Amino acid sequence: MSPRTVAVVGAGPAGLMAAEVLSAAGLAVTVYERMPSVGRKFLMAGRGGLNLTHSEALPMFLGRYGAARDRLEPLLETFSPAALTAWAEALGQETFVGSSGRVFPRTLKASPLLRAWLGRLAAQGVGIEVRHEWLGWDPAGALTFATPRGAHTVQADAVVLALGGASWPRLGSDGSWTGLLEAAGAAVTALRPANMGCDVAWSPVFRDRFQGLPVKNVALSFAGQTARGEAMVTRAGLEGGAIYALSASLREAIAAEGQAELVFDLRPDQSIAQLTDRLQAPHGGQTLSSYLRKVMRMSPVEIGLLREAHGIDLPTAPGAMARRIKAAPIRLTGVQPIARAISSAGGVDWDGVDEGLMLKARPGVFVAGEMLDWEAPTGGYLLQASFATGVAAAHGVLRRLA
Ligand SMILES: Cc1cc2nc3c(=O)[nH]c(=O)nc-3n(C[C@H](O)[C@H](O)[C@H](O)COP(=O)(O)OP(=O)(O)OC[C@H]3O[C@@H](n4cnc5c(N)ncnc54)[C@H](O)[C@@H]3O)c2cc1C
Repeated sequence: MSPRTVAVVGAGPAGLMAAEVLSAAGLAVTVYERMPSVGRKFLMAGRGGLNLTHSEALPMFLGRYGAARDRLEPLLETFSPAALTAWAEALGQETFVGSSGRVFPRTLKASPLLRAWLGRLAAQGVGIEVRHEWLGWDPAGALTFATPRGAHTVQADAVVLALGGASWPRLGSDGSWTGLLEAAGAAVTALRPANMGCDVAWSPVFRDRFQGLPVKNVALSFAGQTARGEAMVTRAGLEGGAIYALSASLREAIAAEGQAELVFDLRPDQSIAQLTDRLQAPHGGQTLSSYLRKVMRMSPVEIGLLREAHGIDLPTAPGAMARRIKAAPIRLTGVQPIARAISSAGGVDWDGVDEGLMLKARPGVFVAGEMLDWEAPTGGYLLQASFATGVAAAHGVLRRLA
């Protein structure tokens, strides 16, 4: 008897992981991808150092997924951060844990890992068809694709859709699947930017002088949440890890109120009393800027930020200055578009899928990866959930076809 067939649509981490698990179980798997090559966003993720996952304890790790925590918990227990690390190592990619607890391949790149992975998939008999853009289903229920050679239809015993979110659309994922799934009866929450930059109406002087510079080792606070890390000044506003960590709350607040006030603590490791003490040092005729540079070791961009927050005329009294360094409010006036975000929020509703990630509205069709409705900050949580949902969808297919 010939093996059961599975069509996986989308050759990102989620789709390729589903293909690996399914082919290892003996199914005949073909992956269809609209772009001329596979894994483009995965390769892009490797540009700045491929952060595969995070080494923190699972309860803390799960907390990063906010409202989707309970849905993802069983999936992340099945394919855990440790399992992902072991998987990469088995593909010959030694990993290490960075000082922040993030896990990277020793090469920091995605390309050696992807090469080794594609080798394994080929050895397991996985077929890959690029330049195949999925357009939906024909009346007989077959998948329809646009290809350079014309329309192509595919009948399979099961389908895994792993079409990604809508950030960086030039890499292939543009969210155009949302209408197709809604037409098929699946509930989809609108895709929104996640891990995105925010807009700030900088003064022209600050913007021209400091765009492109990082403000390092800050604590940012918003709505009772605090994130430590780096914020990057851009022409449009702010981006970077500490902003991304708060991006879900910032996005919702800006959508509701048109703005949000983000508070910078520029010396998070020192108390107001300690800073006040240091600021007792005499000014000795120096300008305030050079005094702050020398006594507080503040960078020009930090001093500029203080002026953006508190006005040009900063106080010289030690206590007043210390309080301003510990709480510099910056008004955010908008969020950067989804095309420039690292990832997406929203996607296929969890209530519309069973525990094997099969669409209730379309039995035999499974969904995986960023197209499901979850979001998380940067730190390896995005890839981890993409891989884990790929594994879960494959297990769902195996149970259904058993
Ligand atoms: C610049 C950048 C850096 C990142 N760095 C990290 C990082 O270090 N760590 C981390 O955890 N995450 C990172 N991410 C996020 C991570 O890359 C994504 O969350 C992950 O790739 C999502 O995997 P996926 O398989 O769900 O979707 P994708 O990787 O987006 O793959 C989906 C695939 O489906 C294809 N497709 C879409 N529609 C169709 C269609 N109609 N027909 C056929 N094919 C289709 C797309 O072309 C694409 O190849 C980064 C993202 C960006 C943009």
